[in-house]
Amino acid sequence: MEPALRTLKTQLSGDLLLPEDSLYEQTRRGWNLTINHYPALIVVPHTTQDMVLAVNYAREAGLAVAVQLTGHGIQNPANDSLLIVTKKMTEVQVDPIVQTARIGAGALWQHVLEQATPHGLAPLLGSAPHVGVVGYTLGGGIGWLARKYGLAADHVKWIELVTADGEVRRAGPSENEELFWGILGGSGNFGVVTAMEFKLFPVATIYGGQLTYPGTSAREALRFFRDWTATLPDEMTSSIGMMHFPALPFLPEALHNTTQVMVRAVYTGDAQAGAALIQRWLDWHPPLANTFAELPFAAIGTVSNDPTEPSASLTSNEMVNELSDEIIDIIVTYMTNPNAPLIINDIRHARGAITHGNHAPNAIGHRDAGYYFTMGGVTPTAEAYSATQAYFQHYKNALRPYLHGGVYLNFLKGKEAQERVQDGYHAAEYQRLLMLKATYDPHHMFRHSFPLVEQLGGAPLTAQKMQEMM
Ligand SMILES: Cc1cc2nc3c(=O)[nH]c(=O)nc-3n(C[C@H](O)[C@H](O)[C@H](O)COP(=O)(O)OP(=O)(O)OC[C@H]3O[C@@H](n4cnc5c(N)ncnc54)[C@H](O)[C@@H]3O)c2cc1C
Repeated sequence: MEPALRTLKTQLSGDLLLPEDSLYEQTRRGWNLTINHYPALIVVPHTTQDMVLAVNYAREAGLAVAVQLTGHGIQNPANDSLLIVTKKMTEVQVDPIVQTARIGAGALWQHVLEQATPHGLAPLLGSAPHVGVVGYTLGGGIGWLARKYGLAADHVKWIELVTADGEVRRAGPSENEELFWGILGGSGNFGVVTAMEFKLFPVATIYGGQLTYPGTSAREALRFFRDWTATLPDEMTSSIGMMHFPALPFLPEALHNTTQVMVRAVYTGDAQAGAALIQRWLDWHPPLANTFAELPFAAIGTVSNDPTEPSASLTSNEMVNELSDEIIDIIVTYMTNPNAPLIINDIRHARGAITHGNHAPNAIGHRDAGYYFTMGGVTPTAEAYSATQAYFQHYKNALRPYLHGGVYLNFLKGKEAQERVQDGYHAAEYQRLLMLKATYDPHHMFRHSFPLVEQLGGAPLTAQKMQEMM
């Protein structure tokens, strides 16, 4: 072991794992199995000081630094880099009086739910409680309370991070304001987040669930969804999803070459008022299945029942302003095509507080979009990955004339997560983010997370380079 590495190992209170160590294999793997990376070394910090030591070591050794908690959202493989795995820093402290939660870098939303819901308080998590708080929030964080309260990033009070120079910095609305603005939306481009604090909301129960309809009603259901969402109060956040099941041997035969339509929603407020809004669907057509009920907020994960086991998947995203008849026809064509791969298309109703909520400014772009339009595919083999990628490309080419143009970074994976980062922001925001990058990470040590400057391939970010990129 080289001397600097030996020093790092002795100074760390957490773990240092090299490829020959027995825990290396299980620690490097994340939830999305398509990212099969082999970091040069892994640090599993127990403290902020461990993160400082890891960043300083990487800088001296000329290594890039990647951060992983669950591996749900890792976009670029951390091959030959230093990978910081934050899973040991899971502390959560809820203050029920001021209604805030302070978390460590390794906290999952499930950990926050466990501490907050006994006080009748709710965090702004997304559909899956097993997703990490920091990764989700830095990318925006659209959850079931989004139209009522906004994005998770909108309610962060402060963030502590270790920047590329090894400094521990605290950023908030009145300290390091520009950095605070940029991390919330700029994701992991500016450093390793060690801790943060955010607001909780007094929501003890919700009215939520899922209605399932057959694929044969997809066109009508999408039109009904469009008209229904146009009338909804901000207390209701909803989505319409379609899943196509090809004739694959591991799927039940009854599902082969079928599509299912899922309408999901969460109402915050009086359950009867929520039920009245869902009744309009029941009056429209009786669903194949209906899980709507009044639920304790702690059970919010049951609305979507996202898969918890690691899987290989590809996700792509677009935004649309409206669900016109033309868009709906294209969706139906691609989602009910018998030759389509195993894919899901999730269309989330946006606007509400996402567009007009009060919050400290942050870099999350495209708040005007009407719907977040996400495609996901199950890709257990390289062939399935290529086929799904090609299918999404055709699908998006057909949609192109009707798209908003922006993307929501949290739902972008694969090549697009490297090549379409700029589309996550308006031009002025992107320019501001580049300036911040040049200030805090001019050698782009943090280049794995929606890289703002990946195309430089390791060269420093100079004023001239920035001009060329804008
Ligand atoms: C089943 C499922 C459901 C989802 N539902 C939603 C949803 O409803 N709404 C939504 O907005 N998103 C959703 N997402 C997307 C999710 O928010 C992103 O994938 C997010 O990046 C996951 O964060 P993570 O920490 O769990 O994953 P990781 O892969 O561990 O981290 C993702 C990225 O976050 C950054 N990051 C994580 N921790 C740190 C840190 N301490 N410091 C600096 N950077 C860090 C890193 O760049 C890392 O590459 C979902 C994803 C899945 C798989």
